[in-house]
Amino acid sequence: MKSIIKEFLDLVKQRNGNEPEFLQAVEEVAETVIPYIVKHDIYYGKNILLRMVEPERVITFRVCWVDDAGEIQVNRGYRIQMNSAIGPYKGGLRFHPTVNMSILKFLAFEQVFKNSLTTLPMGGGKGGSDFDPKGKSDNEIMRFCHAFMSELFRHIGHNTDVPAGDIGVGAREIGFLFGMYKKISNGFTGVLTGKGMSWGGSLIRPEATGYGTVYFAENMLKTKGDNLEGKNVVISGSGNVAQFAAEKVIQLGGKVLTLSDSSGYIYDKDGIDREKLEFVMHLKNVKRGRISEYLETYPNAEFIKGKTPWGVKCDIALPCATQNELTENDANALLENGCICVSEGANMPSTKGAIEAFHKAKILFAPGKASNAGGVATSGLEMTQNSLRFNWTREEVDLKLKEIMSNIHDSCIEYGKDDDGYIDYVKGANIAGFVKVADAMLAQGIV
Ligand code: GLU
Repeated sequence: MKSIIKEFLDLVKQRNGNEPEFLQAVEEVAETVIPYIVKHDIYYGKNILLRMVEPERVITFRVCWVDDAGEIQVNRGYRIQMNSAIGPYKGGLRFHPTVNMSILKFLAFEQVFKNSLTTLPMGGGKGGSDFDPKGKSDNEIMRFCHAFMSELFRHIGHNTDVPAGDIGVGAREIGFLFGMYKKISNGFTGVLTGKGMSWGGSLIRPEATGYGTVYFAENMLKTKGDNLEGKNVVISGSGNVAQFAAEKVIQLGGKVLTLSDSSGYIYDKDGIDREKLEFVMHLKNVKRGRISEYLETYPNAEFIKGKTPWGVKCDIALPCATQNELTENDANALLENGCICVSEGANMPSTKGAIEAFHKAKILFAPGKASNAGGVATSGLEMTQNSLRFNWTREEVDLKLKEIMSNIHDSCIEYGKDDDGYIDYVKGANIAGFVKVADAMLAQGIV
């Protein structure tokens, strides 16, 4: 088995040599899915995974815009249309200076499996730009978004490819992107998700990724007869996912000890309660400030500069910042401090070594493609509501989100339960996500 996996990975490496994040995501899938394919070889055939790691289409384009000083700026735009076997391409846009082909291909690849797990008819895609929104004025953001969409529009559509937000793309950016799409496409369609409530957005979409991550943690804890009540929770990040993960933890009786951004983390031993979280939301979403400013209002907290929060003693860890933010050393620190459950809110935040450490210790560990799927699932619900030209209530959407997260959890158990009873959520998510997409690809023939 090892040699079959190695042969496959060598081939993928040969073709995608300088794309480390993409290779990391492919390796994780290959190690769990290839043994399954080998077992079902007659049915799945030899090269199904090789077809899945090759994007159906990769689009790169120039984005020129004028900054407030009147200077012309040039950025690079991307859309990876990874797999459309089970529905239109679906996945976010990321605006961050680190964006490159490797990062977007890993995200698009993960998205295929994640979207499949939601049970909704969505293929996988991802896009974005190396544009850095940090420090830009609202007008600069608007001009960039308009310039970006003036090219992207020809590649997307409500039945073709439906982008949404990701790091650096929130409600403000989706608004500007939608405005330009509507103008040049001459149509008001559900081409983007994460829209504002008055123009086609879905209730609970802003909360969905964070809430879903915590619902998934609750589902995992339930397998041990446990729950979030009274648990100490360490969260990284302070953007959309982290904020609503924190909100849900607080609602379910847990204590949030940390939040972070790229400059470091805050540790509040008294717990970040509802009121403090409101402050963080205003600080981040309206003032667009740094997390260290928390101390100006809550001086009892500590700010630990340049560090991630994984050394803080906790029961549950929710990495909600970015890829590879939690290393093997961090995993060992969490384990030494008694952490029993890790639910990923970000995409691929744990390194390969970290995941191995969690598995070795047999704690509850959920990969982002399962635990953070609530965001895109609710995007799927937004698409449904747009098609129906109808809006569901908060309660209706939240109930559907809960159900979807619980179904994903069941799928992970179905495909991921080891002989000794340990649930390998990585294996479960990869195989469950794979089976549906592979079946559709086989049914549709070689296209
Ligand atoms: N960017 C989010 C994710 O990683 C959401 C994508 C979407 O809603 O289309 O799943």
